[in-house]
Amino acid sequence: MLIIGPPGSGKGTQAERISDRLGVVAISTGDIFRANVKGETPLGIEARKYMDNGDFVPDAVTNKMVRSRLSEEDVDGGFLLDGYPRTTAQVDYLDAILANGGQQLDVVLQLTADDEELVSRLLGRAKETGRSDDTEAVIRHRLDLYHQQTEAVVARYAERGILTRVDGIGGIGDVTDRVMGAIGNPVPASVASGR
Ligand code: AMP
Repeated sequence: MLIIGPPGSGKGTQAERISDRLGVVAISTGDIFRANVKGETPLGIEARKYMDNGDFVPDAVTNKMVRSRLSEEDVDGGFLLDGYPRTTAQVDYLDAILANGGQQLDVVLQLTADDEELVSRLLGRAKETGRSDDTEAVIRHRLDLYHQQTEAVVARYAERGILTRVDGIGGIGDVTDRVMGAIGNPVPASVASGR
């Protein structure tokens, strides 16, 4: 499963809750990048140049990281990717990884929210967490990138008939309930196959 949404739509929070309910691992590319930035690894030092300005980390770097993460054993029973793919080139790359592993996406969830609501949420979050990419100019740039590049990703999955849209505005629990209703409570692959 994938979860896609503009910055501030609560996708990270919802990804954790949904993955708990479905019993599958949540993988957030933003979290992996932030952990690498914090640890000052070569990947983190490279990623930071882009993240601080609200730009996408280049596809080649991001794709390689995702391929390596998806080769770990904990994804065997299914996974929820949060924040990837964000470009159509990443969609093609993910298709190839999944085809290679004989896997397929069951559902792509898009969380929706109005831009001005997102800006005010993110400015609030900036005060609490001090994330370096939560200034107003950077927030607006991240929203622009979402509209320019990630909406094309959403369109690709809509064409395939696996896209579900859920309104991301409301209480955290309400949004989770909406999501679980919308995706029809699928049985985790590990349970369905009796593993
Ligand atoms: P997020 O926590 O999902 O908002 O991601 C934080 C930042 O990490 C983004 O603004 C990008 O700089 C970088 N990032 C996360 N996922 C991707 C991706 N799929 N492609 C490129 N950059 C990404």
